[in-house]
Amino acid sequence: MKKNLKSKNMPNCVFCKIVNKEAPAEIVYENGKIIAFKDIHPQAPIHLLIIPKKHIASVDHLELEDKELMGELILAAQKIAREKNLKGYKLQINVGRPGGQVIDHLHLHLLAYGPGN
Ligand code: 5GP
Ligand code: ZN
Repeated sequence: MKKNLKSKNMPNCVFCKIVNKEAPAEIVYENGKIIAFKDIHPQAPIHLLIIPKKHIASVDHLELEDKELMGELILAAQKIAREKNLKGYKLQINVGRPGGQVIDHLHLHLLAYGPGN
């Protein structure tokens, strides 16, 4: 039986709502486990958020079983960057309030200052 991703997700999490298409977002990439969309308040000409569909609160909440998923998250960033012809980019993960994390659903920021398409 196909796993129901919704059952894993947190009802009041805005990124889970984006995963479930219950909240709008400009989605740029999606596969079975990962979704990427434009940051609503971009800090660079290209600012994307790449997230696991599974609700994981932060890097501090990762478990051993998530290690493949984290690799896939970075490979999704590489794929998106190649598709956009980015010559260089920055990947950032904020962890916890003192680390600048505001949304408690693990996300990888992809920031690029150009060129891209
Ligand atoms: P954090 O500070 O947690 O690492 O980053 C959260 C990011 O999510 C911020 O850059 C913020 O602009 C973005 N963000 C917050 N709410 C929404 C939303 O509803 N939609 C989108 N697309 N981005 C959001
Ligand atoms: Zn979530």
